[in-house]
Amino acid sequence: TDERITEPERQPTDDDAALRPKYLKDFVGQRSVTDNLSVFVEAAKGRDEAMDHALFFGPPGLGKTTLAQIVANELGVGFRATSGPVISKAGDLAALLTGLEARDVLFIDEIHRLTPAVEEILYPAMEDFHLDLIIGEGPSARSVKIDLPRFTLVGATTRSGLLTKPLLDRFGIPLRLDFYEPEDLSRIVRRAATKLGTSITDDGAMEIARRSRGTPRITGRLLRRVRDVAAVEGDGTIDREVAAKALARLDVDERGLDGLDRRYLRTIAEHFGGGPVGVETIAASLSEGRDAIEDVIEPYLLQQGFIQRTPRGRVISDRAWKHLGLAAPTRDPE
Ligand code: ADP
Repeated sequence: TDERITEPERQPTDDDAALRPKYLKDFVGQRSVTDNLSVFVEAAKGRDEAMDHALFFGPPGLGKTTLAQIVANELGVGFRATSGPVISKAGDLAALLTGLEARDVLFIDEIHRLTPAVEEILYPAMEDFHLDLIIGEGPSARSVKIDLPRFTLVGATTRSGLLTKPLLDRFGIPLRLDFYEPEDLSRIVRRAATKLGTSITDDGAMEIARRSRGTPRITGRLLRRVRDVAAVEGDGTIDREVAAKALARLDVDERGLDGLDRRYLRTIAEHFGGGPVGVETIAASLSEGRDAIEDVIEPYLLQQGFIQRTPRGRVISDRAWKHLGLAAPTRDPE
């Protein structure tokens, strides 16, 4: 899935940091998440204690990293960030933990990808704020207990079901992020345009919003591309027409689907009669990894009602047939 303009995972050219809101009041949408967080933040501040550990789960690009930073800002504490795949040894995590100040926020992205040995270190750290380290090897090995400052761990993962039970159980505040509504994304577009110094009409913002697959990271990326087109081919203002033209050229259709999404749907339609077909089979047909399909392509198609997951595999809906411009087959009664 590399090079996709609609790729929800962070890409090297994304300038995520520039558009990040710093406080809860500036974070658009996800009201139940932000309402919850503000209560926990206020409570922790009132007691002068570290906030309880929080887990954010939901598809990539919805604001998990942003929220973790906001939590640290709101608490007025330090922020450290790392990610599951980066921590290869238990010692790496131990070094990070011992470097924290009291009440700091430690953010671990893709926390489901920690190795079991690293996870073991995390349990006592989260629960009782200490490390159990084994120093040395063989008969001379001994275990030492190191006290840690009370800190807040914020974990992020695409699906809560990917976490082991003992890890999941240690998060007092599990919060789920959902795809954004176009109205919220349109506010994000307008806010980002202001930051970028670009003028945009309301329907220009809505056009970008509707094609952003419910994902603010994609919104930011589409906005930058449309802005370039508006600057080169127009007077610099983004209106509906410029946005629609630029996005069509980038192969992002009115529903935010791109070539890969349509290839996914078309494969099920044309090679498997609309389904049901197993995800492994789809992955093989598309030469894509199963993870990419389940984490990146399918969540938005599911949310938009283009596909359904059934026990026997994926099935595309009437809406998908229509979107592809194909006639749905009349099904034999089973
Ligand atoms: P994640 O960690 O879930 O992959 P990020 O927190 O890195 O996502 O967010 C991706 C981009 O989207 C960032 O540029 C961020 O500023 C922007 N963003 C995410 N959520 C919001 C929001 N609610 N309001 C404004 N911008 C947002």
